Amino acid sequence: MERFSAVLQSVLEGKKPDREDIVTLLSARGNQVAALFRAADHVRRAGVGDAVHLRAIIEFSNYCRNNCLYCGLRRDNRRLPRYRLAEKEIMSSVDKAAAMGFRTVVLQSGEDLLYSASYIAGLVEQIKRRHGLAVTLSLGERSREEYRIWREAGADRYLLKHETADEKLYQYLKPDSSLQIRLQCLYWLKELGYQTGSGNMVGLPGQNLDSLAVDIILMRNLDVDMAGIGPFLPHPATPLKDAEPGSLELTLKILAVTRLYLPQAHLPATTALGTLAPDGRKMALSCGANVIMPNLTPAGMRDKYLIYPQKADIIEEPHQALDKIKALLAELARPVARDYGRAKIFSGGYGSHDNCKG
Ligand code: SAM
Ligand code: SF4
Repeated sequence: MERFSAVLQSVLEGKKPDREDIVTLLSARGNQVAALFRAADHVRRAGVGDAVHLRAIIEFSNYCRNNCLYCGLRRDNRRLPRYRLAEKEIMSSVDKAAAMGFRTVVLQSGEDLLYSASYIAGLVEQIKRRHGLAVTLSLGERSREEYRIWREAGADRYLLKHETADEKLYQYLKPDSSLQIRLQCLYWLKELGYQTGSGNMVGLPGQNLDSLAVDIILMRNLDVDMAGIGPFLPHPATPLKDAEPGSLELTLKILAVTRLYLPQAHLPATTALGTLAPDGRKMALSCGANVIMPNLTPAGMRDKYLIYPQKADIIEEPHQALDKIKALLAELARPVARDYGRAKIFSGGYGSHDNCKG
């Protein structure tokens, strides 16, 4: 048997990931690519079923204390008009999400310390009280104590992508942090009983198949409940403005191989993939993805949360976007999930605040 087929077979039989095997899978060509995507689709169906989870994302502040080289929200981007949503505005987007039938809201922002731990905890409590929705936070790196307060307030999940497992590249791209600090945050989140999401960008300058393989091994070792995998897209007001964007095919391959090694994780068809190619999200759903995150940020602000240009979801109204997603899912014969989309049970337990019993 040729090496690619032998490796694919061994993964399907439960062999643990090793770097060389992953590189072999990521080097798939021609028919091998189709075989890889078919296998990922099969594993997705067996691991998490056909239902697709819809999670409403609300981007409540584009202020950021950090200067990540790839991101349009970086603090040195003085061309970007900044905004912060007030509690009323955030809650009105949450009400809208609940009325539209979403079972999860994702609150995301730059690292904006003006939102104190108690302010965020108050928001989480209100969302729980008013609607009983599952709450995902994605606010970047904070202290263990802040994460604890939010978990105590009822937050169910936390999304903190590790971005790249290449330590040197990480340091270059995220000068305010280090891979070690990022991983420490991820361990805290797991310890505190969050359903924890990580993930990486694909096609960062200086990245190669070897380091992408380590991304997948890292996520498997962390036993993440979610993994956001999207292409790097250059933003004109960042130091990486002249870099090439990540490739569609390679991003889909990373997604597919991640699915093979994490059969029960939630893997979004990311907005970045939808931005890179009109059919990007459809392709992602066909090679491992089972989540879509429609944007419920108020219309006047959405175009200011510009982490990369031409973000796919800045023009459409949420109702329009939802109709399109439902049409896409109908085309793929994939139902919309009705439950809260709790990831697999893991040994850390969920404590008394887990509302995700769907
Ligand atoms: N500030 C938080 C953090 O960094 O974790 C959350 C918000 S941040 C904008 C969300 C994600 O945007 C990051 O995890 C990163 O992967 C992604 N992102 C930022 N700039 C990007 C770019 N140019 N291309 C693709 N993804 C990008
Ligand atoms: Fe800030 Fe997150 Fe953008 Fe980095 S990726 S500049 S932390 S918003």
